[in-house]
Amino acid sequence: MENKAKRFRDRSCYRIVWTVLLCVFSLIVFQVPQPLAQRSPGERVQWIDVHAHPAGGRGAYTDYASAVKAAVSVMEESGIAKMVLMPPPQPPGTPPPFDFESFAAIAKLYGSRFAFLGGGGSLNPMIQQAGRHAAIDDPLRKRFEERAAEILQAGAVGFGEITAHHLSLLSGHPYESVPADHPLLLLLANIAARHEVVIDFHFDPVVEEMKAPDWLASPPNPTVFHANLAAFERLLEHNRRAKIVWAHAGSDQLGQWNVPLSRKLLEKHPNLYMSLRMAPARAPQNHPLTPDGQVKAEWLQLLSDFSDRFVIGGDQFFAAAGIKQGPGTNFAPRARGIRQRTNTFLAALPESLARKIGYDNAMRLYKLKE
Ligand SMILES: [Zn+2]
Repeated sequence: MENKAKRFRDRSCYRIVWTVLLCVFSLIVFQVPQPLAQRSPGERVQWIDVHAHPAGGRGAYTDYASAVKAAVSVMEESGIAKMVLMPPPQPPGTPPPFDFESFAAIAKLYGSRFAFLGGGGSLNPMIQQAGRHAAIDDPLRKRFEERAAEILQAGAVGFGEITAHHLSLLSGHPYESVPADHPLLLLLANIAARHEVVIDFHFDPVVEEMKAPDWLASPPNPTVFHANLAAFERLLEHNRRAKIVWAHAGSDQLGQWNVPLSRKLLEKHPNLYMSLRMAPARAPQNHPLTPDGQVKAEWLQLLSDFSDRFVIGGDQFFAAAGIKQGPGTNFAPRARGIRQRTNTFLAALPESLARKIGYDNAMRLYKLKE
């Protein structure tokens, strides 16, 4: 009797063990994403962010070492192989603008992980200042050329961030506007062409005159935006060897940078490139992703038709821990979401297209080192 009871207990034990094992096995089999449906994290495309901003402050207290470190700390977990760091496009005045000198030496300590652009805190303020005048005199031209040469001699892979139209999105974030075919911008195109480097260009397009939307503060933004696209096209036509990377495609603020406009300009201007910013857009109709993380059909067609002309420019800000003020500290908390959306976007693309847009195009265009 006792033996029978023991056998029964043993059998029940086995049954429980087998049931548990079976559950674990089916969990593993059915919970792991299937390779055909989605690439597993191990297989995901490594990407390059060609538009990143270290925010280490300015004036008496700066800490770019910890801003660059903050960038390094997210690279591996997010599949980011490299970043191109640059100063934002600043106006002249106070606070005093900062340029690549603030962070380039620190970035160089990390070898080929980082490249950098320069001019956002020196060439751009000169452009904004001169923007009020249609012509430039020789001393200004000379100063501009000398500064551009200095930037390239220091190892910059191009000029950035430069702007001809930049909306002010929050307090302390400047409104900037000059004709995109201003003589200093045409000069910069010639210099970039001669040295075969890129210009990272922030340009909020206005196809047709429009009233400022309610959410945008005026001032500093104007109450009416005038059409500015013709001048941008003249800049692109001015020197076909100047490669211009138009920043923030897909997250247009005014709702005018749509897929048909991108297609028209890419067809017409072979020296135009676009960097995609995967931030939630003000104009969601122009964003590449649907709310459930699929690439919209018209975007997929555009990206496939111009697969050599797109790169990823996240516009991630990395703020040093001790920096409490400035637009960079407001933008920095958004970077995690941008990285997540970029990974969703790349995972939703056909693999060869993801590789080109995420990695290969950036390597070629910015001449990055492996
Ligand atoms: Zn920008």
